Amino acid sequence: MSEKPAKVADNVVVSMEYTLTVEGDVVDSSKEAGPIEFLQGHANIIPGLESELYGLKVGDSKEVTVEPANGYGELDDEAFQEVARSEFPDEITPEIGMELQMRQGEQIIEATVVELGDEMIKLDFNHPLAGKTLNFSVKVADLREATQEEKDHGHVHSHGHHH
Ligand code: ZN
Repeated sequence: MSEKPAKVADNVVVSMEYTLTVEGDVVDSSKEAGPIEFLQGHANIIPGLESELYGLKVGDSKEVTVEPANGYGELDDEAFQEVARSEFPDEITPEIGMELQMRQGEQIIEATVVELGDEMIKLDFNHPLAGKTLNFSVKVADLREATQEEKDHGHVHSHGHHH
C-alpha cells in the first residue's frame, strides 16, 4: 500500500473545493457538485491556479488571484463576428447577453449576443471569463497518488471511464 501524498505535487490527484468570484459575483463553486478532482502538473486546470497549489496539504485553504493572461486569456478583438439577422434561426429571438451554442464542424462553440442591429447581430466568441481577473477561494479536500495509467494519460480516471 502506498501512503497518501503529504502535499500537492506533480502527478498527485487533488480533490479540491473551490469558489470562483469575478467582479464580486460568485460565478462557479463546488458547493453543489462537490470537490473537483484533477491531476496536478498536467494543465487540467488553468495555469494561474495550478501553479499556486504546490505544497498545500489536506485541509489547507488559499485565496488565489489569477490575471486574465493566466486564466481564460485576454479579450480577443478578432473574436467578435457579425451575423445577418436573416441567417438566424426563426425560433430564436436574439437578446443582448443571450448565450448561443453553435455547431462548427464537429465542435460546439459558444457565443454571446453583444449587439443588436436592424439587420446585423454581433456575437462575441470569447470565453465568458476572458479578460477577467479570477478570484479563487480553494480548499484541499483530499490527495492521492495517481495510478500509472492516469499519469500516462495526464488526467484523472475517477469515474471509471477510460479515454
Ligand atoms: Zn484516460
